[in-house]
Amino acid sequence: MTNNDLICSGPILRPGDDGYAAEIAGFQTAYTHRPALVVGARHTEDVRAAVEYAARHRLPIGVQATGHGLSVPLDGGVLVSTRRMTGIEIDPVARTAKVAAGVRAGALIDAAAPHGLAPLNGSSLSVGVVGYHLGGGLGILARTFGYAADRVRAIELVTADGRVRTLPSGDELFGAVLGTGGNFGVVTALELELVPLTSVYGGQLIFDTDLVEPALEAWRLWTQDVPDETTSGLTLMTMPDIPPVPAPLRGRYIATINIAHVGPDGDRLVEPLRRIGTRLKDDLRAMPYTETHTIYSDPDFPHAYTATNLLLSELNADAAQAFLDATADAPVVANLRHLGGALRRPGPATVDHRDADHLARFITEPGGDEIRGLHDGIGKALSPWAIGHSLNFLYGAGDWADERQTRAGYTESTYARLAALKATYDPGNLFRANRNIVLSS
Ligand SMILES: Cc1cc2nc3c(=O)[nH]c(=O)nc-3n(C[C@H](O)[C@H](O)[C@H](O)COP(=O)(O)OP(=O)(O)OC[C@H]3O[C@@H](n4cnc5c(N)ncnc54)[C@H](O)[C@@H]3O)c2cc1C
Repeated sequence: MTNNDLICSGPILRPGDDGYAAEIAGFQTAYTHRPALVVGARHTEDVRAAVEYAARHRLPIGVQATGHGLSVPLDGGVLVSTRRMTGIEIDPVARTAKVAAGVRAGALIDAAAPHGLAPLNGSSLSVGVVGYHLGGGLGILARTFGYAADRVRAIELVTADGRVRTLPSGDELFGAVLGTGGNFGVVTALELELVPLTSVYGGQLIFDTDLVEPALEAWRLWTQDVPDETTSGLTLMTMPDIPPVPAPLRGRYIATINIAHVGPDGDRLVEPLRRIGTRLKDDLRAMPYTETHTIYSDPDFPHAYTATNLLLSELNADAAQAFLDATADAPVVANLRHLGGALRRPGPATVDHRDADHLARFITEPGGDEIRGLHDGIGKALSPWAIGHSLNFLYGAGDWADERQTRAGYTESTYARLAALKATYDPGNLFRANRNIVLSS
């Protein structure tokens, strides 16, 4: 399609056009981008043309693949919608995948599996592969393989000057792009390492209300000496009292332990957790890699949500008690993920606070002062152990995505380096519909 001086092989839509609302809709339903123009890109050249057009007219540019991580919605400007860019090329010999900007995790898992390979994906099949890597990528096997963004081999990026750049790993932008969302341009493709893996041991253990506290304590102690081949999480929440939820879980305050383990001896490894007591659910098993999305069973339908998180230096008994006390009677999904292992290794991606031992996440419905107060209260309770936060797991717009939040995702020196690069590569801050790195003055 053409729109004055912009040519695109996909649709170009304005507010009021047929298809505009469907094009801007995403997984997050609390808010959406409201661009003056949405460009449905099919190819790199479409993205390049859209960026060049926006730059010529000094318009802000946003990118949307799925809408899972929408933080700063555009109000005007140009939205590059990448959902049609779904190409995947697997090189089974080199063990790599080249993925286009709109590929979702599930499609990549399915493409890699026939070759006995797996990507380092996160918990949900519907998350965009590129957006996930641009936030660091904390995978279901993170303690074994480290941050997924460290396994990126090459990046194809359209920068604010309208150039298509192929960044090799030595380029100064390479590491900056991996860990900063869309701050440096639109990524049109990534080349990723795959790992030889066809099955995983794991699943869920669910404990009822009376075992919530023992489950938290047993899991906490268990994480202190599991091998790096074991990655796990624990979630405390009151289940909705509605029919899609299995009858024994409806309305119950429960603890869910999620486990992914690579290698033999899974059943022996989880014995201390099974000893906690009766499980409402226990589906731990060896499973094909293509079933590993069942380990977290994330909701796969669009909905409204907001979230904060804290990277913790340690999860000692006091920290665990503070986590429990601050969340037990609150309308919050309170999740802990065990970090450490290979996540501690240095890597090219801009992911700071790699020494964190656990990640604590708090997911709620979006809301006003009450919800803000809940998140602030939980943050205060855990502040003695907090060393920063993970940008991929911050959800919300407005003051939920302000500069203070973005800054705390990095160390001061990293932030200063990123701001200097931003001034060089995006001096007009066209790419600001994201967790924006503010330009150095
Ligand atoms: C249910 C659920 C489960 C999740 N599980 C995990 C997990 O296990 N591990 C983990 O690390 N994260 C996880 N996340 C977080 C997720 O990785 C981030 O929200 C990520 O940003 C989503 O990317 P997306 O493309 O799907 O979303 P989008 O909302 O489409 O994109 C999010 C942002 O990424 C940037 N972006 C996306 N594509 C491009 C591009 N081509 N070029 C430049 N910038 C781009 C933009 O700034 C955009 O606003 C999860 C999120 C949800 C909602």
